[in-house]
Amino acid sequence: MTMEDFRQEFLADHPDFDNHEQVVFRRLPEFGVDVIIAIHNTVLGPALGGARLWKYPTKAAALTDVLRLSSGMTCKNALAGLEFGGGKAVVIADPQRDKSPALLRAFARTVNDLEGRYISGEDVGLTPPDMDILAEVTPYVRGGTKGPAGDPSPFTALGVFEGMKEARRFKFDDERIAGLTVSIQGLGNVGWRVAEMLHEAGAKLVVSDIRGDRVKEAETAFGATAVDPEKSHRVEADIYAPCALGAIINDETVDEIAAPIVAGSANNQLAASYHGQLLAERDILFAPDYVLNAGGVICLARQDETGPEIESRVRSIARTLRKIFETAARENLPTSMVAGQMARSRLKHRAG
Ligand code: NAD
Repeated sequence: MTMEDFRQEFLADHPDFDNHEQVVFRRLPEFGVDVIIAIHNTVLGPALGGARLWKYPTKAAALTDVLRLSSGMTCKNALAGLEFGGGKAVVIADPQRDKSPALLRAFARTVNDLEGRYISGEDVGLTPPDMDILAEVTPYVRGGTKGPAGDPSPFTALGVFEGMKEARRFKFDDERIAGLTVSIQGLGNVGWRVAEMLHEAGAKLVVSDIRGDRVKEAETAFGATAVDPEKSHRVEADIYAPCALGAIINDETVDEIAAPIVAGSANNQLAASYHGQLLAERDILFAPDYVLNAGGVICLARQDETGPEIESRVRSIARTLRKIFETAARENLPTSMVAGQMARSRLKHRAG
């Protein structure tokens, strides 16, 4: 048995293992940093997904995250109509303290060793300039400041904004944003831009972030009201938009969500799949995260196209959402389950 087979056997018992094709563990001893790259499925093409540089509380938490995020990427890329499979990387390090060009280059060498089976984009803790550093070492990188498309976050935000309008249209037959209250949790690359678009469209914003400076800026820029991050989901808003980290819809929060629509950019918002069912039972319309937030990966996958071409592809996220909402209503199923079924059906079709 090879070391790789041995690892796979151990992983098979992990609750979030979903027949991942390959999971690579690499220690970068000169930095005391561990890297995990999970390639979930390459039926549609090489695995494309962001790398997250984050200070996880435990290595087990990092493994759970990369397993869940990489299988989410398979569904995301399939439903966005891309010729890419699903994968994800985590670099277990503190973005403020540990991130350095040398660490990024060492991570890039690990990506390079996979010879193109995994292609990295940016995720939480990494920025477009960081991707430029990765690209000095490996061609298996998308994004960065120099490519034609550049930073994917504005495209992600655009998809989220269009998806919010679609959710309003479906549930209330009214896509107007003016006068609505939206509770945004997380004012980072995506959340901030979503806030900008909503503000321009006339929405009232309730915002939260663990970074006080971001919240203060939003109060000034958008006349937003600040709320404690722990209470963001309880705000009596028209839309709750989780734009920070995942598992925000869990046993504690699911009954407390006060908005009739949940639509945000954060990956893996449901802590477990049954939380999608619980939202549906409460008649809360959930826009599945990996459908809504596909704008960024569409931009990375289509980086040779022009901005307006990519934009029009991103706007088509609303059509996919509509199909999901309609099927879910017709078949009395949670939207999260319908999205999963649609993604698997594309994979099955391709696998023949
Ligand atoms: P980011 O790191 O720029 O922003 C995250 C923000 O959330 C930060 O301001 C951080 O301080 C804040 N935050 C962290 N924990 C919080 C908490 N408990 N409560 C409130 N705020 C908290 O990341 P981003 O690029 O804006 O991505 C946000 C989410 O969207 C992530 O889940 C990411 O995986 C997902 N996403 C991003 C993209 C993209 O194009 N950037 C694409 C798809 C999905």
